[in-house]
Amino acid sequence: MSKINIPMPDKRDNKHLKKRQIKTLWDGLINWKNDLETSLMECDTQHYCLDTNELADPIDEASVNSEAQKMLKLRNRDIFLLRKINKSMERIKEGTYGLCGECGMEIAFERLLARPVADFCISCKEENEIQERQRKKISKSAGRTFANAR
Ligand SMILES: [Zn+2]
Repeated sequence: MSKINIPMPDKRDNKHLKKRQIKTLWDGLINWKNDLETSLMECDTQHYCLDTNELADPIDEASVNSEAQKMLKLRNRDIFLLRKINKSMERIKEGTYGLCGECGMEIAFERLLARPVADFCISCKEENEIQERQRKKISKSAGRTFANAR
């Protein structure tokens, strides 16, 4: 068997994941990150060219005209995802990847495979979604941009 060479501490908290599983997820994250960075760098309008190294703040959609809004929405979503991917990769390095950020529960490999940037276990996520829906009733537009990215 070939050596699994990914940044990961010897002593890690996410023992429920096998090294090989983490490697699969790590590779998936890297590929996803590369795809996003490529699409973010292919900018047709100078104004919306974003420095992905800086990971600039998402641009305020209200401040641009409607024709650019759709594109910006996608770009903001990409930036948001990139941040999540970077965070997930950091957590792999720390050995805390795959643990719920809320309750510390182990997140199953299958769930991570389907959603490599998952921060929460299913029950915490459901709770968050209920809270989010309640928030949305109060403020309809806020948070909608990133609703699909979660
Ligand atoms: Zn949880």
